[in-house]
Amino acid sequence: MNKENPFGSAHFNTIGTALKKEFGRRVIKLSLDGGFTCPNRDGTAGTGGCLFCSVDGSGSYAGTIRSQIDLLGRKWPEGVYIAYFQNHTNTYAPVSVLRRLWDEALSYPGVVGLAVATRPDCLPPEVLDLLSEYNQKTYLWVELGLQTCHETTAKAMNRCYENAIFERAMAQLTTRRMKAVIHLILGLPGESRQDMLDSAAYVSAYRPFGLKLHMLYVLKNTGLSDLYPEVFRMFDKEEYIDLVVDILERLPKEITIHRLTGDAPGEELIAPLWSRDKHAVLNGIQKEFKARDSFQGIYASPISSR
Ligand code: SF4
Repeated sequence: MNKENPFGSAHFNTIGTALKKEFGRRVIKLSLDGGFTCPNRDGTAGTGGCLFCSVDGSGSYAGTIRSQIDLLGRKWPEGVYIAYFQNHTNTYAPVSVLRRLWDEALSYPGVVGLAVATRPDCLPPEVLDLLSEYNQKTYLWVELGLQTCHETTAKAMNRCYENAIFERAMAQLTTRRMKAVIHLILGLPGESRQDMLDSAAYVSAYRPFGLKLHMLYVLKNTGLSDLYPEVFRMFDKEEYIDLVVDILERLPKEITIHRLTGDAPGEELIAPLWSRDKHAVLNGIQKEFKARDSFQGIYASPISSR
């Protein structure tokens, strides 16, 4: 086993460090709301949305580009920006609309790339062609909300697409040499620790550019809020930290880590309340790595990508 830690005190491959290497300076994400909806809310794929999703569409902090650049530019004047289309399903519109939004975002001084969060069932050929075009001319990644590789859980959470759709989307993005960032949620009702490790292994096999791990949280007025606390329990902080480190130890080193905590809007959060203190969670993860004398990829299996 190679016990050389290539990540220093971080212990894992942070996207911040990877982007700094790529651009030679700090890269800041602008969280944007492009005014999209979601096929899992308007009846096209489903209704009511995923049980964990708020009506705001998993991105309640989104603001305008101008206001964010003004604010963040004061804090990090040397920084450049990735325009992150976060709210709802950001390819769920005609390509003319997507082109206009992406062009507008890229027209701001300092914006060096795009991140587009979507569902794998919202990548028709014309959208893939458009993404490919932008992939040639800017730094781009596509985020896919998989959440779990277990179909039973996905069904119970009203995800409204099957894994085969995700697998097809990954094949299409890979063929087009596009970067993918996959979201998983840890702590979904009915899942065991092993189920979550299996989801991470399933994603790892694709060797995606990046991974986001979200702790499950329960927000007001979501499907989950009707089930909690009667039907399921949540992780406590120590269990969550232990699981995250277990997952990262088995994850290939080259996969960049974009998130290891949730980012729930404070006033809507029902549980877990400990998730409000993101620094405590991240510090806990680093402490755990230190205590184990380990790092991302220490136990990754040398399997080839799909
Ligand atoms: S999590 Fe994503 S796919 Fe699910 S309802 Fe919310 S925006 Fe739609």
